Amino acid sequence: MKKLAIHGGNKVRNKLFPAYRVIGEEEETAVTRVLRSGILSKYLGCWADDFYGGPEVLAMEREWADYYGVKHAISVNSATSALYCAVGAIGIAPRDEVIVSPYTMCASATAPLIYNAVPVFADIEYEYYCLDPDDIERKITDKTKAIIVVDILGQPYDYKRIHEIAQKYNLYIIEDNAQAPLAAYNGRYAGTLGDIGIFSLNYHKHIHCGEGGVLVTNDDELAERLRLIRNHAEAVVEKKGVANLNNMIGFNMRMTELEAAIAREQLKKLKRLVEERRANVKYLEDNLQDIPFLRMPKIREGCLHSYYIHAMKYDEKQTGISREKFIAAMQAELMPIELRESEGVKIGKGYVQPLYDLPIFKQKRAYGDTAYPFSPEIDYSGRNCPVCEKVCHSETIFHELMRPFMTKADLDDVLAAFHKVAENLDELR
Ligand SMILES: *Cc1c(COP(=O)(O)O)cnc(C)c1O
Repeated sequence: MKKLAIHGGNKVRNKLFPAYRVIGEEEETAVTRVLRSGILSKYLGCWADDFYGGPEVLAMEREWADYYGVKHAISVNSATSALYCAVGAIGIAPRDEVIVSPYTMCASATAPLIYNAVPVFADIEYEYYCLDPDDIERKITDKTKAIIVVDILGQPYDYKRIHEIAQKYNLYIIEDNAQAPLAAYNGRYAGTLGDIGIFSLNYHKHIHCGEGGVLVTNDDELAERLRLIRNHAEAVVEKKGVANLNNMIGFNMRMTELEAAIAREQLKKLKRLVEERRANVKYLEDNLQDIPFLRMPKIREGCLHSYYIHAMKYDEKQTGISREKFIAAMQAELMPIELRESEGVKIGKGYVQPLYDLPIFKQKRAYGDTAYPFSPEIDYSGRNCPVCEKVCHSETIFHELMRPFMTKADLDDVLAAFHKVAENLDELR
């Protein structure tokens, strides 16, 4: 008799996993306060007091800066906007090169294109999935201006080595920390390690306010340039007396008072939410030790992980069963997460496809019917990112079934599914 659900057996679990509900009474009260004030956004796109936003925006930015121990926090309407701001603020010029990761959310690789600069992919580390310092150094040319490092899946990048490289070649580091709030590198918070750090407040992140992003920096001049780009810089520079006009075409990337008020409450909840993730991961990992063909993620020495995603390595050689088939069997045993039903069971392969495979890079087409700003020499084949190829196309299994609000019984269902499939591999052969 077949036991596995993929072959018609009973599923391990028949009800949805609990929703990630982080919005509660505190946010309701905060939003009500803003609604009653009648001011949903107080920004002015000209040189006036309100150029920097209203009371909730200003309070949120002060609280965020104090929380992370940085001089400046600048709110925007998404982390994608934050990336665009950051690339503009460092004064990037057309055809400059920026080293980026192929293993991340697409905006951390496409951001340079907004300023007609060219993303150059470096490979990732096999164990940690972050940018590989050795490969960064190989891909530096005399056009390289910056590195966009990503604290991917919740793990800090190799701060020490990448900073040595940045100093040696005089490069800026933009740190995309959308996935790793409260991760740490030798006691310093991820997100505060680069020249500019970026946080996301979108619905899927550790904390959220609907949509939102925050930039942090200790550099006064960069901070002011970020604020200008956020809010119609070109209309402001003359009256404000800004001398450096590089990349001073502004956007409207302003966060509203509503989102800022929610973000203030969310920040208070962050520690507890990250700690719960860590505890859930520990429980899962302790109880998956006996499955020989799964290897748990490694944490870089001296670092704390914040587990946006839990990524394991799957050894196809040991099982003789493809990763795809194993995942399909796992998915059949389990259920989606409430409020995210349409995404299916949140366990999958590889996390993302390598970003150099996106049509924008494969076809080198970003602006109109031209190849600008890509040069003919630039290679987006993936041949020079072998580790990323291996991680995405054969070895990695990721899941999100360690989020807070998962009870011990919920986690036990996840474990039961892994063990059930592991014990019945013969059925899949
Ligand atoms: C989510 C995410 C972003 C984009 O965040 P938004 O706030 O949705 O724009 C950027 N980089 C990484 C690594 C992300 O995970």
